[in-house]
Amino acid sequence: MISIKNVQKTFGNHKVLEDINLEVSQSQIFALIGPSGAGKSTLIRTINALEPIDEGDIIVDGISIHDKKTNINAARTEIGFVFQSFNLYPFLTALENVTIAPINVKKMNNSEAEEKGKKLLSMLGLESKFQSYPSQLSGGQQQRVAIARALAMDPKVMLFDEPTSALDPEMINEVLDSIRSLAKTGMTMIVVTHEMGFAKEICDQIVFMADGKIVEVAPPEKFFSNPSTERAKGFLSKVL
Ligand code: ATP
Ligand code: MG
Repeated sequence: MISIKNVQKTFGNHKVLEDINLEVSQSQIFALIGPSGAGKSTLIRTINALEPIDEGDIIVDGISIHDKKTNINAARTEIGFVFQSFNLYPFLTALENVTIAPINVKKMNNSEAEEKGKKLLSMLGLESKFQSYPSQLSGGQQQRVAIARALAMDPKVMLFDEPTSALDPEMINEVLDSIRSLAKTGMTMIVVTHEMGFAKEICDQIVFMADGKIVEVAPPEKFFSNPSTERAKGFLSKVL
């Protein structure tokens, strides 16, 4: 479903992605972990071409994302992206934030988009917040609106870049619960996270990055109990 082949990227003379290869099959969930500056955000942003790449290829559901001939706006409708900062439209209600793209981009009619938006917000525990503005919502609620907004486009894959790291501790779980319930629907996902317990619980594979490289890919049971590299051991000794 997501195929990353020989991806290279430099910022100036700093190599931030070095020969990255990764295959994520349908319904698999991968966690991307590693120290600050490892290149996790850069890598996940290349998957929907928020960052250009210098070399290599990224194929999502058969579409070559960085091919000049690809209609990137169309391709992006297949890829839901949730950021650390929720980036909601401040002057739109929760429901309007969720319906705006289906109405404008997918040309869905208003009532259909609203019905779908309400269903998604309710699924994420926000049935009483349809008419609230972002400023009237907690961080955890705003992040769940952001997840509903991404899901409203019926993406084939969902990408999360540290979805809980801007949240107060008591709100982290409500957002993780939303991602857990998404996992149960069979959604294909890549999640950049520092929540090791969560990564262990829901992910099929842990991808450990450092210095622009993928250092180790392993199932969580293996990675957390017996990592093969010194680099991963050192990282885990600091975060666990
Ligand atoms: P964190 O855990 O802190 O979010 P990260 O693994 O997501 O870190 P990236 O944000 O991908 O790391 O950054 C990787 C490297 O690329 C860092 O050295 C960073 O300084 C550099 N970098 C990122 N964006 C840019 C940019 N627009 N211009 C120049 N350098 C950049
Ligand atoms: Mg980052």
